[in-house]
Amino acid sequence: MTRRLTLALPSKGRLREPSWALLEASGVAPQEPGERVLQAHCRNADIDLLFVRADDVPEYVQDSVVDCGITGLDLVAERDSSVEVLLRLGFGTCSLQAAVSMEDSAMKLSDLEGRRIATSHPRIAAKVLAERGVSADLVQVAGSVEISPRLGLADAIIDLVSTGSTLRTNGLRSIGVLFESEAVLVGRTGSTDHEARRTLTTLLGSVINARANRYLLCNVAKERLSEVTAVLPTKGSPTVMDLATPGIVAVHALVPAAEIWSLLPKLAACGATSILTLPVERMVP
Ligand code: AMP
Repeated sequence: MTRRLTLALPSKGRLREPSWALLEASGVAPQEPGERVLQAHCRNADIDLLFVRADDVPEYVQDSVVDCGITGLDLVAERDSSVEVLLRLGFGTCSLQAAVSMEDSAMKLSDLEGRRIATSHPRIAAKVLAERGVSADLVQVAGSVEISPRLGLADAIIDLVSTGSTLRTNGLRSIGVLFESEAVLVGRTGSTDHEARRTLTTLLGSVINARANRYLLCNVAKERLSEVTAVLPTKGSPTVMDLATPGIVAVHALVPAAEIWSLLPKLAACGATSILTLPVERMVP
């Protein structure tokens, strides 16, 4: 009998919606999704869900309260948790950056030598500053890190940035990246014998791979087929099929979503017609 799997999911905050959407797309969403529910069972899978704060997930996994969890890589590093990253999930991408006010003279991380820096990520900040030989005075704050320079609490901040708009709104300028983060599926270190954990990792991975790709179809005259296959950014071999109209073939291929924009005009220039791109639901390489 397969042992049930317990999975901790962010109950609120930035990672909540995309985590739930990933489970939904994987076909294992909770049976009774609701704002106040703390626990639920999954539809179609032997998984029990526990909804907790993203910050608490690394510890819950490390202490075996749950088998796996979804959280930010920055939170795993900040808690220095002994957990294994099973899968990078491709959302919640951000970086921990050092920033100063626009009028400050600092241009790079080493210019923060001897200065006061406010951060909610003191462990990562201390580690990276030490690696780069910078000795600074770190002040730990829980939230609204970006207003610290204006309040006179610190000369600089080290905070998570995704678009940079919060920095700009607060009159701050980035002077360096310390850590790159994204949402991750984590599991207890060494628990490789758990079959349901392997299945969940494969299932979520297949959706993440699929999201990054599109299924492309087009028609082309046989004599121009080699031109079309030459421009396809495809690792595997495309499928080529004869159409009912003699001399014309249909080409099917999986292509990276990010390359569609530049690919379509190239295909048209090779004489391809009836070009279609379709989303892919799942992809196991
Ligand atoms: P929460 O505090 O629950 O909204 O979740 C914060 C987590 O979301 C962080 O630990 C990061 O992993 C992730 N994240 C992604 N972009 C950002 C951002 N711009 N600011 C803060 N957290 C972000």
